[in-house]
Amino acid sequence: MTCTRLSPNRTSPRNHAIDTVTIHCTAGQGTARQILNMSHFTGYDPDNGASCNYAVGKDGSIGLCVDEGDRSWCSSDRENDHRAITIEVSSEAVSPYKVTEKALAALIDLLTDICGRNGIKSLVWSNSKADRVNHRGGCNMTCHRDFAAKACPGDYLYAMEGDIAAAVNKRLEEGEEVTQEQFNAMMEVYLTQQREKETSSWSKEAWEKAASSGVFDGTAPQAPLSREQASLVLDRLGLLPEGES
Ligand SMILES: [Zn+2]
Repeated sequence: MTCTRLSPNRTSPRNHAIDTVTIHCTAGQGTARQILNMSHFTGYDPDNGASCNYAVGKDGSIGLCVDEGDRSWCSSDRENDHRAITIEVSSEAVSPYKVTEKALAALIDLLTDICGRNGIKSLVWSNSKADRVNHRGGCNMTCHRDFAAKACPGDYLYAMEGDIAAAVNKRLEEGEEVTQEQFNAMMEVYLTQQREKETSSWSKEAWEKAASSGVFDGTAPQAPLSREQASLVLDRLGLLPEGES
């Protein structure tokens, strides 16, 4: 996150779990900070005020405008914004409202992060508005133009939504984070193997002798032996020749 300026134009808390993303375009280039500072975001106006959850700047900066736990006033559809994370992406001021490569890369980073944290397994796009607004076939990407007579997110981003979803999904698959449960299961396997090693019969007798005779200190049978420690062991056993000094 590059910057935060929370908008008063929000509904707190949202009334639906986050299961959708809605990408918008700003129709005017700016950094995340500049987008957050726009007067229709900063000035409270229950009728015409607006906001978004995140803003992505032309330089790849990312700003927080409305906490994820709250509903932004962004997509001209209350129901959509209660379940969606809305993202304003800095774009050119004229159609097709092109965005910079930096903004696109930051958008993909941000979406990957949002999906990972909110349990959205993958982004599903459809070119059909009916699929999108009815969440058919797991569709979880909507557009401002689905709810109002607007060009948003612009033809440039609109045409890329499927590619954006694919890029995010690839990242989600590659970087799948290990859950606590998976980690515990892995640790259990590891610890079981360790315990087996410690009680293996082939070394038990020798280990007990080594420990009780003071060659080792009797702890950590599976600990690695450094050259320094090996020298000490060999010396204790009287196996080291005298050096020629
Ligand atoms: Zn929009």
